[in-house]
Amino acid sequence: MVASYVQLIKQRYEGKLDPDADDFIEYAVDGANRMKRLINDLLTFSRVGTRGRPFETTRVSDVLRHVQDNLAMAIEEAGADIVVDPLPTIEADEAQLVQLFQNLLANAIKFRREGEHPRIRVSAAREGDDWIFRVEDNGIGIEDEYFDKIFIIFQRLHGKGDFPGTGIGLSVCKKIVERHGGRIWVESKPCEGSVFQFSLPTRRVRETGEQ
Ligand code: ADP
Repeated sequence: MVASYVQLIKQRYEGKLDPDADDFIEYAVDGANRMKRLINDLLTFSRVGTRGRPFETTRVSDVLRHVQDNLAMAIEEAGADIVVDPLPTIEADEAQLVQLFQNLLANAIKFRREGEHPRIRVSAAREGDDWIFRVEDNGIGIEDEYFDKIFIIFQRLHGKGDFPGTGIGLSVCKKIVERHGGRIWVESKPCEGSVFQFSLPTRRVRETGEQ
C-alpha cells in the first residue's frame, strides 16, 4: 500500500510542486520499494525452516534449467555465459534447491566486473559421502577477511548505490544447505572471481536446522 501510494503521488505530482518536493517523493518511493524487498527477503529467510517441503528425488540439472528460465532477463542483459556440467540426482527439497542456485547465479551476474561479461560454471563432484557443488564466476571477487561474514544476514560489502540488494541472499543459501545436512563456503580472489561451494550428503539425511 505504502509503495503503491507514494508511486501514485510521484506520477500525479512530480514537477507540479517544488524541486524539494520532487526529491522528497523520490526518497519516499525508493524507501518504500526497499522496505518491500526487505520484507519479502526476510519472509523467504524465515520460511526456509517453516515452509520447507519433504525431500524428494530431484534432478539437479532440471533445477538449473528452471533457474536459468527465472533469470533469463538478467542473463540476457548482462550477456552472461553459463556452462552447466553434468549434475547428479539427489534427495532434496526441489523448490529450495532452485532458490539456492538462483541466489548464487544472480550474485554471480550482479557482482560482475565493469566491462566484462559474466562467465559462470556450475559443476558437481563426489567426495566421500558428499556431493560438492561449485558455482564459479569471473566477477569482482571478495577479500578473504570477508569469506565468513558474507553468509551472515544483512552483511554486504558494497553500498546500495554500487550493487542493489538486502544482504539476505547468502544467509538464505546457508540455511537451505544446512537444512539438507551440508555446509557452504567461498574461495575467491579480488578482481579475478569467486567460487561458491556447498556440500550435500549423498545419503538420505533427516532434515536438520531450526524449524
Ligand atoms: P546481496 O546480494 O543482497 O548484497 P547476499 O547475502 O547475496 O546479499 O551477499 C552478501 C554480500 O556478499 C554481497 O553484498 C557481496 O558483497 C558479496 N557477494 C555475494 N556473492 C558475490 C559474488 N558472486 N562475487 C562477489 N561478491 C559477492
